[in-house]
Amino acid sequence: MCGIFAVTGSSNDAGSQVLKGLKTLEYRGYDSWGVAVRESKANIVTVTKEVGKISNVNISFPQGIEAIGHTRWATHGGVTVANSHPHQVGTVTVVHNGIFENYAEHKKRFLAEGATFESETDTEVIGHIINELLEQGLTPAEAIRKTSNEIQGRFSILVMFENSSGIYAARRGSPLIIGRDKNQTFIASDIPAFLEKTRLVNYLDDDEMVFIKNGAVQFSDLNTGGPIKKRDIEVPWKLEQSEKGDYKHFMIKEIFDQKDSIARAINHETDILNQAIKLLKDSNGTYLVACGTAHKVCLAAEYFFSSIAGRKINVVAASEMKYFERFINPRTAVVAISQSGETADILEVFERAKARGAKLLSLTNVESSSVARMSDVHFLLMRVQKKL
Ligand code: GLU
Repeated sequence: MCGIFAVTGSSNDAGSQVLKGLKTLEYRGYDSWGVAVRESKANIVTVTKEVGKISNVNISFPQGIEAIGHTRWATHGGVTVANSHPHQVGTVTVVHNGIFENYAEHKKRFLAEGATFESETDTEVIGHIINELLEQGLTPAEAIRKTSNEIQGRFSILVMFENSSGIYAARRGSPLIIGRDKNQTFIASDIPAFLEKTRLVNYLDDDEMVFIKNGAVQFSDLNTGGPIKKRDIEVPWKLEQSEKGDYKHFMIKEIFDQKDSIARAINHETDILNQAIKLLKDSNGTYLVACGTAHKVCLAAEYFFSSIAGRKINVVAASEMKYFERFINPRTAVVAISQSGETADILEVFERAKARGAKLLSLTNVESSSVARMSDVHFLLMRVQKKL
């Protein structure tokens, strides 16, 4: 996991905005960070990157209306400045969230052809492939599409090119959300990065691509290149819900928030409750899946289901679900809890369970998240509270 963020628009401080947005994504990756700015004056892309926590960083960037950035959680290569993102190859600047599983075979070919690498990352290989395709005469969009075909594994990428303005993004498996206000467009791994500016969003789905330049946003199919239309969504979050406020840690904030969050969590329309009850009653085998603290919530739920509902259920960390896959069939209910609704391990569980015909129930804070949209029944937890 890592956090990625892009800004384009009318304001010349895109680099500082990206730094600020990345600080809200630090929970996704915190070993190093980097920002690339397209300098207004020179039309070159300048990269600043450092090892360590981003939260206390306070530096200035060259003036520019376009920037991309990354907070890293290293998977390939140690925590070094060279391995931090963005990576630059020729005229290509790229940041990447995910794992390029078959990167080694491509790297071997490039090395055999005499290419040199600055880092040990899988990401830099993506830069090499895009750059090679550009040199063969493909357009930036074509080069990104073709490169995506080569990547096995989950990824989301942001790409800038030295000779043509605008920012490209593509997704397969890792979240990307576009935020739009009057003057600027943003692309982020999670909404808090731009929540201060706008709540108007479009969710990029798997195998989709987007190009942003000033106020213009063009969505396309990552495989065919054909244009696609996306639904505009107004997220119901308020900034203070995603910020620590006066609390020292998110955990303390969440503990004090419980009196409201529990009320929100249990107060649902009868219709949705009935759909969930039916789904669970009709099932033969129920799995609660989640990651991190949400997994702890599932452990508590296991007691409630046993003692109150008289029903034995299974609690499995999303990353371990593959060991239980043979028990998943059309009568299984898989219940996922994910705050963002974009947790990669849960998306994988849902995709595989759906393919086996299981019924999917989820609880998330984001109505139009990937997890929510895949579900047969979805509970939106962070919503405007009705009077109890
Ligand atoms: N695989 C890439 C790396 O190790 C990206 C990791 C991430 O998602 O932060 O640099």
